Amino acid sequence: MNLQMDAAKACGFKSRSQMVRAVTEDWAASHLYCPACDAKRLARTPSNTKAIDLNCTKCDAGFQLKSGINWNVKSVPDAAYGAMIAAIRGDRVPSLLVMQYSLQWTVRNLLLVPHFFFHESAIKARPPLRPTARRAGWVGCNILLSAIPPEGKLQLVANGIALNRRSVRIQYQRMRPLAQVPVNLRGWTLKVLNLVHAIGTAEFSLADVYAREKELVRAFPNSRNVRPKIRQQLQKLRDLGIIRFQGDGQYEIVQRS
Ligand SMILES: [Zn+2]
Repeated sequence: MNLQMDAAKACGFKSRSQMVRAVTEDWAASHLYCPACDAKRLARTPSNTKAIDLNCTKCDAGFQLKSGINWNVKSVPDAAYGAMIAAIRGDRVPSLLVMQYSLQWTVRNLLLVPHFFFHESAIKARPPLRPTARRAGWVGCNILLSAIPPEGKLQLVANGIALNRRSVRIQYQRMRPLAQVPVNLRGWTLKVLNLVHAIGTAEFSLADVYAREKELVRAFPNSRNVRPKIRQQLQKLRDLGIIRFQGDGQYEIVQRS
């Protein structure tokens, strides 16, 4: 994959953000494949298409592209908080592409978060804009990549090297059954998966997960029966092939290839 972007596409734009958008989206539409199917290219959407910058004409997957010269693997600024939460609840969030580019307009890093990995506790409201601002009171949000489990962060380009597209597509397909989990339960599945990773070892016990139940109570303040829900989500993660049961309350994270 050619990682050099065409700086000439920035011509005619005044603001830096418009230039970045023109150059990065042009590159994505010229060189990027669809990770969700075998389509060789993605297409740019008309400029008035809300929140979706690129889509696949073969499988209809939608993508939002966020680019910056600095790489923040923990948090990405996004648009309106309320619209994002509504999109998650309605299962309408596009997949997210996060790009870091160099001063020479080359793609340094490119990360994909498939749409079915978004959950409400990964979205943090920013403080409302000040009364003097043009859009006073408007509340934006940050997408907390740190709250997305590693299975939901697919690296397409790492440190200036494009990864094998076949293995990217295999990883995507492996996680795809998560999209079938009803959206009101998916937040639980993803939060429990993130807790499992926070334990820090591939093997863990039910007691290790219970030890972190306060985090679940914080994320889902209205829920009762947290421990049965934890066990239910562990079963779901097993059915999805993400963890393995070893018996006697012991579990193991299935290593990704
Ligand atoms: Zn596709």
